[in-house]
Amino acid sequence: MATGTLHIDLDALVANWRALNALSGPGVETAAVVKADGYGLGAGRVARALSRAGVRRFFVAVAEEGAALRQELGPDPEICVFSGHMPGDGDILHDLTLTPMLNSIEQLTRHFESLPGHRFGVQLDTGMNRLGLEPTEWEAACPIVMAQAPRLLISHLACADDPEDPMNGAQLNAFRDMTDGLNVPRSLSGTGGILLGPEYHFDVTRPGIGMYGGAPFTDATPVVRLSIPVIQTRDVAPGETVGYGASWTAEDASVIATLSAGYADGLIRAMGDDAVLFAEETPCPLAGRVSMDLLTVDISHLTRVPAQLDILCNQQTIDDLAAAAGTIGYEILTSLGTRYNRRYAGSA
Ligand SMILES: *Cc1c(COP(=O)(O)O)cnc(C)c1O
Repeated sequence: MATGTLHIDLDALVANWRALNALSGPGVETAAVVKADGYGLGAGRVARALSRAGVRRFFVAVAEEGAALRQELGPDPEICVFSGHMPGDGDILHDLTLTPMLNSIEQLTRHFESLPGHRFGVQLDTGMNRLGLEPTEWEAACPIVMAQAPRLLISHLACADDPEDPMNGAQLNAFRDMTDGLNVPRSLSGTGGILLGPEYHFDVTRPGIGMYGGAPFTDATPVVRLSIPVIQTRDVAPGETVGYGASWTAEDASVIATLSAGYADGLIRAMGDDAVLFAEETPCPLAGRVSMDLLTVDISHLTRVPAQLDILCNQQTIDDLAAAAGTIGYEILTSLGTRYNRRYAGSA
């Protein structure tokens, strides 16, 4: 078997959720964001483990994800859909009891006309200019919406990963201005907002990346380990080159291991020279470009050829690999391809 193995530690995931739940504080419900197939780790397995740990509300990006999640979790948890009520969503929202976060006057109209009495929440735009009703729209729509008993009012922070950014306070004030006194549960914060402090928590927090072990939750326990098998090795003489573009040249006699994963598996080409792989604790540098299905790694300094090398592990987290590739941990996780053998541990 040449496919890599993605080890997913569900106990670590649950421990991270519990830590974020503790940070959210007493009286605040900590939900869980499992969009994009649970940030690439398998929404069903992730959500089942979290559900057992006490999560009662999940967020997904689109209704189809919510439908799949409902089949996994059964009737009890609330499943909220960030993209709201799109054309064609009516049957899914109704049949699977999903809660759309309505984003526009158009969506409010569609929802109230096509699914009268069906549960919903509203997303408000406090400055990110991405989704949600703007303050003037909300002012006009608020009485009509309140008459329909929304279950949740949410907004989203644009700069929550930087506690110093003045945008956080501005969005907090805007959210308060739009929602104070309405007596509807409110939610403003994902992982970053939880770390900003209690005034950002309101009634419901909705962490994603921190549960999966990523920044800005620096105290997170790593959730993933990615091991990639060695297909073959070869001895390379000084002056010989390795890989596409012959971009790596051996300075000394070297041993190169060829591993079975590449950019088609989410190991993006841009990580280039800064990424390393690990044989247990020992770092081994990439030698040459990342191919579609293969990596070439300098293992000259190892005393024996390992069966596999790790590219994500305690020594190299999703954020370390993201830094090498000029991206963020979220993109590393959600890019992990479908070829890996996903192996779950814990929370069985
Ligand atoms: C993805 C997302 C979250 C979760 O954010 P993290 O930074 O992953 O914790 C919360 N709210 C909204 C609206 C999102 O799109």
